[in-house]
Amino acid sequence: MKNKKDIYQGFEQGPIRPPSESQSLLIRFTRNCPWNKCLFCPVYKGEKFSLRSVENIIKDIDITCNYLNKIIENTENNKQIDQNLINKIFNDSKNKDRTAFNAALNWYFTGMESIFIQDANSLIMKPDNLIYVLKHMKKCFPMAKRITSYARSHTIARIKPDIMKDIADAGLNRIHIGLESGSDKVLDLIKKGCTQEMHINAGLKVKNAGIELSEYIMPGLGGIDLSKDHALETAKALNKINPDFIRIRTLAISPRTLLFEEYEQGRFKKSSDFMMVKELKLLVENLNNITSYIKSDHILNLLEDVQGKMPEHKEKILRVITDFLEMEPEKRVYYQVGKRMGVFRKTQDLSDITLLKKVKETCKLYNITSNNIDSIIQELMGRFV
Ligand code: SF4
Repeated sequence: MKNKKDIYQGFEQGPIRPPSESQSLLIRFTRNCPWNKCLFCPVYKGEKFSLRSVENIIKDIDITCNYLNKIIENTENNKQIDQNLINKIFNDSKNKDRTAFNAALNWYFTGMESIFIQDANSLIMKPDNLIYVLKHMKKCFPMAKRITSYARSHTIARIKPDIMKDIADAGLNRIHIGLESGSDKVLDLIKKGCTQEMHINAGLKVKNAGIELSEYIMPGLGGIDLSKDHALETAKALNKINPDFIRIRTLAISPRTLLFEEYEQGRFKKSSDFMMVKELKLLVENLNNITSYIKSDHILNLLEDVQGKMPEHKEKILRVITDFLEMEPEKRVYYQVGKRMGVFRKTQDLSDITLLKKVKETCKLYNITSNNIDSIIQELMGRFV
């Protein structure tokens, strides 16, 4: 079980987690992404994938668990936790790992309900090792109601159904998959390394194992040329999978990606915000016979209130989308700018005169109009990711 090359250098944390895991304890099982080829993804570029040894993952879990137990012990009987007590707990502890201590402390303050396994695809671990560390983690943190990991469909497709069930029994109860698109043409274009069929098989396997499933979709990923195919084929795949959650994460082209080069050279024709919202409308219109919850929980999304349970909220979601598409062009520009400035969250915020005034002043200052809004949005979003 021991990976001789993996020298322990203290408690580790990876660079990202999904927005829905903001209150989770982050435990790193693997480093970076074993695929690392998706054209739109800047996260692990230049970083090499590696497996952490079981021994080192266990060390991270144990250190965090010891700190957590000390924090709980010291705060029993409603004792007030202040900076002095925090310093005392840390100084009295045998280990002196500030990152692990802070992870335990944050988790304590956020209710100790969920754990997120990092990084991009820890299901690539040998199943025996994965099951072993999951069981150990469950034992150390019995209060955790949810244990989640990112995973690639390609990896899940290779795991036998009974092994997937064992992984679920060991404690993994939610998986986030970057479906991105159900269109084989788009998947090929962005080098996702899997097909619609693989996505469907993997999604169904996760669900059949009793694990909750989130599928991330990416409006705009097919560019202008494949927009329709992207919307229709993604809806088709989602209709077959019926994931628990469909999470929207709008395309933003970071200068650190290979897709940026394609875009700069004119080979990838990026859809405008308006086109992406139209594409999202087509996708939602074609979602049928599913009970998924649609979530728009990423800062890059233009319409935060495209949220709700299918099928009962389908009409409400489509109304939000149509309201944006039918706005006067000038008002639409104000909303786009305000949303990306973090001033607006929802289209209704346009009726707040103070907020609108702020956005209008910005548009005037930088001469933002319906003629240049698309290039400005690309610049803003590219800088953000
Ligand atoms: S599989 Fe995920 S983390 Fe890896 S390159 Fe693709 S999008 Fe990025």
